[in-house]
Amino acid sequence: MGFQHSGNAYWIQIEFNGMNTELIFIIVFACFGSFLNVVIHRYYSKESVIFGSSHCPKCKYKIKWFDNIPIVSWLFLQGRCRACKKPISFIYPIVEILCAFIGYSLFFSADHFFISGYKHDWSLSIALLSFFVFCGFLVITFIDLKSKIIPHRFLIFSGLNVFFIHFLTGNKSDSFMDGLIGMFTLAVSLAGVLWIGSLMLKRDAMGWGDVKMALVIGFLLGLNFGYVAIFTAIFTGAVFGLLMMASKKMKNQNYRNLEMPFGPFLALGTYLTFLYGPKLINDFFSILS
Ligand SMILES: [Zn+2]
Repeated sequence: MGFQHSGNAYWIQIEFNGMNTELIFIIVFACFGSFLNVVIHRYYSKESVIFGSSHCPKCKYKIKWFDNIPIVSWLFLQGRCRACKKPISFIYPIVEILCAFIGYSLFFSADHFFISGYKHDWSLSIALLSFFVFCGFLVITFIDLKSKIIPHRFLIFSGLNVFFIHFLTGNKSDSFMDGLIGMFTLAVSLAGVLWIGSLMLKRDAMGWGDVKMALVIGFLLGLNFGYVAIFTAIFTGAVFGLLMMASKKMKNQNYRNLEMPFGPFLALGTYLTFLYGPKLINDFFSILS
């Protein structure tokens, strides 16, 4: 990056070549993850996302810019506030790393996207909109992990971006149609699965937040790919749940009362299906056989 002078106009010339471009973008994505941390934090504190500067949630110390560099500052401060030395959650750098990873995979490593039952070639505009969709899912993941709630506002945010993605696909009307069919079929199917699950586990709580999330997932992926995402979510969730139960059992804790949020697994299943499509399931069954 450098300044160039010509006549009486200055402008910034950014040299985008090879590795430099990717590195610059990874830093941008990590900064975006920083912003998502603010979104998550202020969802709980009810503060404005845009106004007000960052401060330590414990001692209200105003965080200086050099203590606010994604990932790096957290490592440098060894996960503690500069002023009060109270621990800063490791969730902050995790969100930044995940956001950078999602951005990198969508913008630089993907060749295709799986949307509404079709395989689409990579395009910058779809990469950008889907990045916003998965940023919404990332926020949902951490709020669901913390308080087992899937807030409407983030589902609406992701859903709106999905709406615009349909305009960028080759065949808008087919894409919309399959999205709408997927939306309702998937939500009804997941409601059925969760209902049976809650009967089997003798729980009265039904995950309506997960059902609402399935609306957005179906709208993005369409019917068939939507089922791939749900299958992946149930499979990864079940494996994770069994591991958690086993570790609780080893620690002699009550492992039957395991309450596990399903939103993070739905987000993971959707992300993997959006990038790999039906290959996910095909590979899974070819490993089994
Ligand atoms: Zn502090």
